[in-house]
Amino acid sequence: MKLYSTNDKTNIVDLKEAVLNAFPKDRGLYMPCHIPALPQSFIENLYQYHFDELSYIVAQNLMGDYIPEKDLYHIISKAINFPALVVNLTENISCLELFHGPSMAFKDFGARFMAELMSYFLRDEDRETTILVATSGDTGGAVAAGFYNVPGIRVKILYPSGKVSPLQEKQLTSWGGNIEAYEIEGVFDDCQRMVKEAFVDDDLQEKYTFSSANSINIARLIPQSFYYFEAYKQVYQQDDKIVFSVPSGNFGNLTAGLLAKRMGLPIHHFLAATNANDTVPMYLKTGEYRPKPSVATLSNAMDVGSPSNFVRIQELYNQEGSTWNNIKKDITGYSYSDNQTYSAVKDISANTGYICDPHGAIGYMACKDYQESPVDHCIFLETAHPGKFMDVVNSALSDNISIPDRLQSLMENKKESIICSSNYQDFKSLLLS
Ligand SMILES: *Cc1c(COP(=O)(O)O)cnc(C)c1O
Repeated sequence: MKLYSTNDKTNIVDLKEAVLNAFPKDRGLYMPCHIPALPQSFIENLYQYHFDELSYIVAQNLMGDYIPEKDLYHIISKAINFPALVVNLTENISCLELFHGPSMAFKDFGARFMAELMSYFLRDEDRETTILVATSGDTGGAVAAGFYNVPGIRVKILYPSGKVSPLQEKQLTSWGGNIEAYEIEGVFDDCQRMVKEAFVDDDLQEKYTFSSANSINIARLIPQSFYYFEAYKQVYQQDDKIVFSVPSGNFGNLTAGLLAKRMGLPIHHFLAATNANDTVPMYLKTGEYRPKPSVATLSNAMDVGSPSNFVRIQELYNQEGSTWNNIKKDITGYSYSDNQTYSAVKDISANTGYICDPHGAIGYMACKDYQESPVDHCIFLETAHPGKFMDVVNSALSDNISIPDRLQSLMENKKESIICSSNYQDFKSLLLS
């Protein structure tokens, strides 16, 4: 499988290079050179396949024979070992539960697949690879869970001290083994700056082989396309026009849906559902793309003012005619305030009995506001378990939903972190000592 950089189409690399070294020197993002369509017969007969089988077929379609069949099947069956379930809430609105993995958010799909793929590419190396990752909360938990005990790989997670929820902190700091948490006395931007400096530090390169688990890694995007097929499989015999509503921050999830469509999945339309960080909905409305600083909201995993995957979306629609018009044919944007999010959590529970997390609630509102005609079936992605955002959900419902067992048992684990100032030299000395 070959990929090119969005900033230089002559910069072509193979999948291994794109996965292990996700930042091209020209600062573009890697995109597949070729996105083949799957046979119509596969789409028509989706119901015959288990989730891991269809994931394998989709992966092989995109990756070609780059990885031998047996190895690819092994990677998929290890990574995709929990379900993606469609739950019907009303006659024509359903949600796709993506939170059945270890960290209870959809990022588990990407993180687990990336961990297995990296471990496969590194299987013959004698030197250990170190993954450096900065997190504002959720990504780090999925990455830690995905890479835990993966041979040949050590993970160093940097997170801002006191700036992540107690539950998120446990998801970062209670693993032991090959996962180390650095508690940085600063903000998320400090963590990110320190990771970037470490990547280009010659002294550190002598001691470490670094790689990144950043969300722009193509290995995180590929498996996210699998569950669009899986969701479609669960509803397509009832409805023909299927719309996906995607609660979005960095727009990786939505981009993966577009990849699925490009591979032949007949998705009728996409809704880009955001909180107050409405850079993409504004672009869809005005044609002007104006990234801006992010603002804090209740659905904090989507607090992104400059979505990193937007270039990939542009790239997919940079064909004949205006890119903006092309994109608008497939995607409609919606943005909602925190008050609307609270009300939605409450209304969904009152009207359907289903408890949504704040991110999913935003997806639900977009479904409600879109519904072009009654034959449409709108599926919104429920990106996290409501128990991960218990405070918001409980105050919206004036209720006490209980924290899921998987997360509860984590709260009892011991926190272990390495405390460090936000001065890069201090971090460097720790890594060299
Ligand atoms: C990361 C995340 C999102 C946003 O996904 P993108 O792919 O960055 O658009 C939405 N909801 C939850 C719960 C997340 O963790």
